[in-house]
Amino acid sequence: MNKPVLDHIGIAVKSLDSAKIYEALGLTIDHVEVVETQGVKTAFLSIGDSNLELLEPTGPDSPVAKFIEKRGEGIHHICFRVDDIDVHLAQLKEKGFRLINETAVPGAHGCRVAFLHPAAGNGVLIELSEKHE
Ligand code: ZN
Repeated sequence: MNKPVLDHIGIAVKSLDSAKIYEALGLTIDHVEVVETQGVKTAFLSIGDSNLELLEPTGPDSPVAKFIEKRGEGIHHICFRVDDIDVHLAQLKEKGFRLINETAVPGAHGCRVAFLHPAAGNGVLIELSEKHE
């Protein structure tokens, strides 16, 4: 397996209008997508080989809406791109790390994604993503 790379940093926002600060810095929105399974509308802005992913909740029951309610807007998760998500999930589970998704679910860009429990990452919510091309 190759080493994971930083795919994106997810930022919880009340509205995708929050992209303005990043656009003022010269970044552009490359991709907007609603991910029903996660209850979010996402906007991706590429920055070098990585991306910022702005996450706007699609409704009050969205996990991101609950995150904003509890902790306010801000950094929500970091995402590592991996080449075999199933192997990583099996290894993490075997090592006793808590997972939110024990199997991969559909994410943005047609990727297969899974979240680890923040308790496993010292309060950092870690997403794994495997690209499908
Ligand atoms: Zn993400």
